Amino acid sequence: QTIGDFFADMARRQGAHEALVSRHQGLRYSYAQLHAEVRRLASALLGLGLTPGDRVGIWSHNNAEWVLMQLATAQAGLILVNINPAYRVAELEYALGKVGCKALVTMAQFKTSDYLGMLRELAPELALCLPGKLAAKRLPALRSVVWIDAAGQGSEQPGMLRFSTLMERGDAQDARIDAIAAQLKNTDPINIQFTSGTTGFPKGATLTHRNILNNGFFIGECMRLTSADRLCIPVPLYHCFGMVLGNLACFTHGSTIVYPSDGFEPLSVLETVQAERCTGLHGVPTMFIAELDHPRFAEFDLSTLRTGIMAGSPCPIEVMKRVQAEMNMTEVTIAYGMTETSPVSCQSSTDTPLAKRVSTVGLVQPHLVVKIVDPETGAIVPRGATGELCTQGYSVMHGYWGDEERTREAIDAEGFMHTGDLATMDDEGYVNIVGRIKDMVIRGGENLYPREIEEFLYRHPQVQDVQVVGVPDAKYGEELCAWIIAKPGTNPTEQDIRDFCKGQIAHHKVPRYIRFVAEFPMTVTGKIQKFRIRDAMIEQLD
Ligand code: ATP
Ligand code: MG
Repeated sequence: QTIGDFFADMARRQGAHEALVSRHQGLRYSYAQLHAEVRRLASALLGLGLTPGDRVGIWSHNNAEWVLMQLATAQAGLILVNINPAYRVAELEYALGKVGCKALVTMAQFKTSDYLGMLRELAPELALCLPGKLAAKRLPALRSVVWIDAAGQGSEQPGMLRFSTLMERGDAQDARIDAIAAQLKNTDPINIQFTSGTTGFPKGATLTHRNILNNGFFIGECMRLTSADRLCIPVPLYHCFGMVLGNLACFTHGSTIVYPSDGFEPLSVLETVQAERCTGLHGVPTMFIAELDHPRFAEFDLSTLRTGIMAGSPCPIEVMKRVQAEMNMTEVTIAYGMTETSPVSCQSSTDTPLAKRVSTVGLVQPHLVVKIVDPETGAIVPRGATGELCTQGYSVMHGYWGDEERTREAIDAEGFMHTGDLATMDDEGYVNIVGRIKDMVIRGGENLYPREIEEFLYRHPQVQDVQVVGVPDAKYGEELCAWIIAKPGTNPTEQDIRDFCKGQIAHHKVPRYIRFVAEFPMTVTGKIQKFRIRDAMIEQLD
């Protein structure tokens, strides 16, 4: 099945049931309404002269238009290119140029960021051309730019189409859509997603219907989603976390998806869960921390919550425990994955015993194979030993777009994706993520894992969040450095932290450098960019 086939099916079965709530836009769609709008948009996109296999970019925060684009491009056989809304001119040019986008859908404005202005900077020719006739010098493939207008509001933009005008041109009965559907295979690419850029430059992973539709389905199974579930998604859609663990997990189970806001705001998440009676909530660890520590947290009734996923970066046990106890998410699970594997390859389920559910990333998902190997030799390591996790099966990406060499480096001859993550597997098959190979610190010849030290420091009552990195050192090769965000209203000192470590962790694991900071350098997905912490420290120490 393709995503289009399956969604059409779901719309037939679940017609009147609520599919999508976009709170900040005040929009609600049933499955039948959403399906009709998706067909209309698919028809309108074909009307722009796009044909199956063409790339279409979406550069926007979470909104209903994003979902329409996700499903309409799948229906029309187009390849959706998710573009990070934090990208600015140079990054946008890189992303659009890299994959040769023929059309781009973007929001006009977000807070102080002028998206149309940035686009004009990149393609000044826009102002001179008719909509759909663009021939930009720096982006030669680009033909059409569509901007998302709030219900017909905002002044006309030369050379650009309004989203509402585009929709008006579409016809839900357009026979071309059915003709394309009959030709599409589930192994066709439908999506290019850029990785988060946590360790450097983002890479564009090409994914197929089969990759992400199946992954979304199994994620929903692990969460036991049904049509009664309402999932609150504050994570961005442009990333697989929102698009697959959110949208596709929901739509494959006839559940309702709810967007609290366009950018992440802890307060709007709390308000939305209460007002919409959400049963599930996703987030990266830093989002859950921000919600739990919000000064107004106690005012909200979160008793409808049952499930949700924490993922994306190491999930501290302390945070998992608080989410269970204080947010009523008794069935919360951890998922592990990467963009290149659609993304999830390991996930705990409701059946996973609590102790394992907070401390491991669960079991390998159905129909996938993992192996843990010595990164040097490629040999499988003994059970319990640390090695690089490799994933094989339906979820492994088609490849990095336009980069065969990188693809060959990442996926071996047997089809295993080498994740770059260090992991262990216990006797029962539970997988534990030790950290990224790139983040491992080698101090005086000894391998140290920042994750282990972070877990320990989280237990300090005044520590809200902590990151540990290695910095170059003349004597030991590398030294440990901890950046700490203190809990609001507390003021711990370096000595407090050292005293806390004393006698509790080995002397050489106590960070040599301890710094208190207000925030960490982050990707918009909420992932902490350790390489930037490292760079800042190197600069300080010089
Ligand atoms: P880039 O590849 O561009 O540096 P990235 O690896 O962060 O960025 P993603 O594909 O979004 O891009 O993230 C996948 C990575 O996130 C994994 O390889 C892993 O390091 C980390 N990760 C995801 N889930 C978990 C988890 N539950 N526990 C620990 N780490 C996780
Ligand atoms: Mg990666």
